[in-house]
Amino acid sequence: SQPSPAPRELRLHDVFIAVKTTRAFHHSRLDLLLDTWVSRIRQQTFIFTDSPDEGLQERLGPHLVVTNCSAEHSHPALSCKMAAEFDAFLASGLSWFCHVDDDNYVNPWALLRLLRAFPTTLDVYVGRPSLNRPIRASEPQAPNRTRLVQFWFATGGAGFCINRKLALRMAPWASGSRFMDTSALIRLPDDCTVGYIVECKLGGHLQPSPLFHSHLETLQLLGAAQLPEQVTLSYGVFEGKLNVIKLPGPFSPEEDPSRWV
Ligand code: UDP
Ligand code: MN
Repeated sequence: SQPSPAPRELRLHDVFIAVKTTRAFHHSRLDLLLDTWVSRIRQQTFIFTDSPDEGLQERLGPHLVVTNCSAEHSHPALSCKMAAEFDAFLASGLSWFCHVDDDNYVNPWALLRLLRAFPTTLDVYVGRPSLNRPIRASEPQAPNRTRLVQFWFATGGAGFCINRKLALRMAPWASGSRFMDTSALIRLPDDCTVGYIVECKLGGHLQPSPLFHSHLETLQLLGAAQLPEQVTLSYGVFEGKLNVIKLPGPFSPEEDPSRWV
């Protein structure tokens, strides 16, 4: 009999990257992304926003997804975008779903290296744990009862990835309008809802990775030598001070507050 062919090695073309944004950040944040990492991985990147924008439409074509989600920082509005990202991934047929925020830098080669290391037979949810312990939530049960649940979840603002095998199992709680229903049920934000579905509904586990970064951590602790291995980076302001990566070079933090260029 014929030997079965070796499984094809994962390529960047198999990865779907969803970026969450909003009208207010189309220029202040997205332009920077389009000029840097998105330009290296255009075909894989889809930008999810809440408002039409002619300039962006022209630049991105079908890679700009204008959702019907409202332009506000509420749990339902943010869950609405996560649901749109998830559904677009399912429809894409690609192998991996990765979510990032519009203040994340993505290093495609480090991302590929990370994802390639997972056996294709496993369900995978990988990202940076948001807390150093599981979060608790109460899950409403049939009439007037609740169940206390605990689960780990990955910080949305650091980015996370889910493979197709797991995403398909998540669909009953995450596809179409069901993601918003699930999020409303436990009254937690979109990134927590993903963890809840994976861990409490499916018995899966967050695979922790230190290679994803948000501006909730002290970014100065990352050394320049470690940067090429990191999957995501971020920047922000914390207590009135810039929380950015310490990068020596010609640009002052005032000229380049993201420290990406
Ligand atoms: N965002 C959004 N709608 C809003 C505000 C923010 O979709 O009304 C998105 C924003 O584009 C970003 C993410 O939510 O991708 C997190 O927003 P931000 O970085 O401003 O807040 P934080 O990281 O402090 O939660
Ligand atoms: Mn942020």
